[in-house]
Order: sequence, then C-alpha cells, then structure tokens
Amino acid sequence: MNNIMNLFSLTGKSAIVTGANTGLGQGISIALAAAGAHVFGVARRSCDETQEKINEINGMFTEVIADLSDISAIDKIINEVSSKTDRIDILVNNAGVIKRCDAIDVTPDDWDLVTNLNEKMVFFLSQAVAKQWIADKKGGKIINIASMLSYQGGIRVPAYTSSKSAVAGLTKALANEWAAFNINVNAIAPGYMATNNTTQLRNDNNRNDDILARIPAGRWGTPQDMYGAAIFLASEASSYMNGFTIAVDGGWLAR
Ligand code: NAD
Repeated sequence: MNNIMNLFSLTGKSAIVTGANTGLGQGISIALAAAGAHVFGVARRSCDETQEKINEINGMFTEVIADLSDISAIDKIINEVSSKTDRIDILVNNAGVIKRCDAIDVTPDDWDLVTNLNEKMVFFLSQAVAKQWIADKKGGKIINIASMLSYQGGIRVPAYTSSKSAVAGLTKALANEWAAFNINVNAIAPGYMATNNTTQLRNDNNRNDDILARIPAGRWGTPQDMYGAAIFLASEASSYMNGFTIAVDGGWLAR
C-alpha cells in the first residue's frame, strides 16, 4: 500500500449528515468534508455557518432543508440528494432532541417528539439508504449518534434515554442484517459535549461541577472531538467493524 492514510480518505464519496447546522452535526460535517466527502447537511434551518466553515477548507457542502420529526420527510431528502450526486455513500444519523422533565410529568406528545426523531427517523432513514445500497450491491456506511444514555439511565430524561438505548440496539440489529451487503452500521456515543443539547446542564453550577468532576479528561467535549471517530467510521479503515458503538467521552464510561 502506497499511503496508509488513503484508508481514511473520503474523496469522491457523498455523505448525508442530519442536524448539520450546529453542534456535533456541524463538527462531523466539517470532518467528513475535510476528508474529501461532499456533505449533504440536512437541517430544519439554514446551515450558513457550516457552509462557511466548510468553504474555508475548500470542502463541498450542500444544504437540504427538512424537518425530521416525521418520516414523511425521507422521500424528499433522498430525492433531493440523489438529484445532486450519483450515489449516497455515507449516512450520519446525528439530529436529536432532548427534553428534561421528571418521568412522572412526561406527556405522550413529549415522548413522541423525542422518540420520533431520535429513534424512528434513525431506523427509517437508514432503511431508505440501505434499500439503494442493497439494490446497487455496493454497500455503504451508517453512523448513528448514540449517547452515554445508551448505557446509563440519566436523570429526568426518560424518553431520551429510551431512544438512545434504542439507537445502540438498532446499530447492532441493522449491522447483523446488513453486514452481508457490505453495509457497516456503527455508532459513536459522545460523552458530555458543549453544545445546545447541554446548555441547561452547563448553566446549572451544581450539575456542571458534578459532571466535570466525573470526567477523567477534566473537560467537556467539543464538536472537534468527534472528527477522528467520524472519519474512521465513514472510511474504508473501519470496513470490518459492524454493530459497534465507540465512546468519545473523555473517559466517562471507564470511570
Ligand atoms: P444540538 O442541539 O446542538 O443539535 C441537535 C441537532 O438536531 C441540530 O442540528 C438540530 O437542528 C437538529 N434537529 C433537532 N430537531 C430536528 C428536526 N425536527 N428536524 C431536523 N433537525 C432537527 O445538540 P448536539 O449535542 O449537537 O446533538 C447532536 C446529537 O448528539 C444528538 O443526537 C444528541 O442527542 C447527541 N448527543 C449529544 C451529546 C452532548 O453532550 N451534546 C451527548 C450525547 C449525544
């Protein structure tokens, strides 16, 4: 092999990243674009900031506006992306929502809001791309974004915990069925990362101090911390990995 780093190259690949306008989805989009992929960023609102950051590194990024709260959005997303690229090679199921509330007060609407996006959409969007990949016999890469709450119960976030535990299970279930079609389904479980998702926690001094004291690395994670695992799971470097969830957590789970 001439250059071992080619294993990590995404040149010529197209990737869908959901929730690409901010936070971890923005970080993952930048990483995949920097590795050579044309990134199609799906978001409810403008991805201007992501577009700007990817322009700065001369990467390729196209925004796809869609609300992912209902699976009726899937056809539009696949059609729009397919009209602009020969083939989708990578899907990153990143968009997710969290609702903090005592379990005793959770309403059916809040439950549906969280699980429809974090779980049902992950399954059906994966199914939609896998149908293409099985038909064209070329395979592809699915990266789901799990959580520490794929392993732990969490506090006051029962629907979120349920959905992220489902993401870890789905990652294994889909990997089992689709590995034979050259489709790698894996996940990344971020630890406590400084994004909108954790603003409330970071603004609560007691919770913030408790969380920081428990992270061996001694700091909140950042979108940049996702770069390596995202490129690895999107590239040929991970071709014999199926159904595994990588923690990017500053040591939280090891503690
Ligand atoms: P974030 O709130 O900044 O990002 C969430 C993303 O989901 C945004 O891009 C948002 O626009 C998108 N989104 C939400 N509802 C949507 C909808 N109906 N349609 C389309 N897009 C929608 O938070 P983040 O931390 O960047 O979260 C990204 C992923 O990482 C989520 O799945 C989250 O659960 C997961 N995660 C975050 C942390 C953390 O500590 N920040 C830890 C573990 C897992």
